[in-house]
Amino acid sequence: MIRPRDVVPGVALFPVRTPTLPPATHTNTFALLGDEVILVEPATPYDDERAAWLEWAQSIDRPIGGVLVTHHHVDHASAAAFFARALSVPLLGHALTFEQIKTEGAELREVHEGDRLGSWEVLHTPGHAAGHICLFDRQRRTLIAGDMVANGSTIIIPPEDGGDMAAYLEQLRRLDDLQSTTVLPAHGEPIDDPAALFGYYIKHRLMREEKVLRAWESQRAKLGRAPTAAEIVPLAYEDTPVHLWPIARSATEAHLIKLRDEGRISAG
Ligand SMILES: [Zn+2]
Repeated sequence: MIRPRDVVPGVALFPVRTPTLPPATHTNTFALLGDEVILVEPATPYDDERAAWLEWAQSIDRPIGGVLVTHHHVDHASAAAFFARALSVPLLGHALTFEQIKTEGAELREVHEGDRLGSWEVLHTPGHAAGHICLFDRQRRTLIAGDMVANGSTIIIPPEDGGDMAAYLEQLRRLDDLQSTTVLPAHGEPIDDPAALFGYYIKHRLMREEKVLRAWESQRAKLGRAPTAAEIVPLAYEDTPVHLWPIARSATEAHLIKLRDEGRISAG
């Protein structure tokens, strides 16, 4: 793995090893090289990776404006306060993210929808996590996507941890409408055909939602009561390996909440 490397003009990539969801093994951290550098995804909990990351960050020959966390998950935020303290720079993130991560000793700077960080605009994109943010450079049409999409791994929507399927789909459509030319996900290689990827993500989720709905209806008829997510998964995810069913159950819960809110299934 060659790191760091430039992925698009003005953006350097430094992947770090993290305890993330397999098959992914690393989280992409980015240096946004404006007049002030923003370091995105202070991710790794491992000492050797933290040391390598810090050496990289300290080698950047420009002032550092802060480290920014896209959302609260451990494979994104677990060095947030550590790196901010080590570099003596503020930690940037959404207020809902700061509520859920360790921030001791770090100077916190909340960012909100529409804020500007140099050439980058902050987008609040809930769905995967309530405080999730993306960054978009309108001129270069480049999107830092966090965990809204990934290249080669799955995005979880855990309702028990702030996941919201309706919000996620709405935000995917919004990101698609940006007509980015490059999307930089937190996991996997840069995405060169964002329209195809967003289109696939939206279609795939809606296809799964239809399967969840059909499974709910058939189990409802069979059991004489509203089925649980666990009773739906074997039907709606029959094409998915069994070891992924715990993730599927969480996604099914998220679909059921959306379907209930839309009045497409009943509570009982
Ligand atoms: Zn995440």
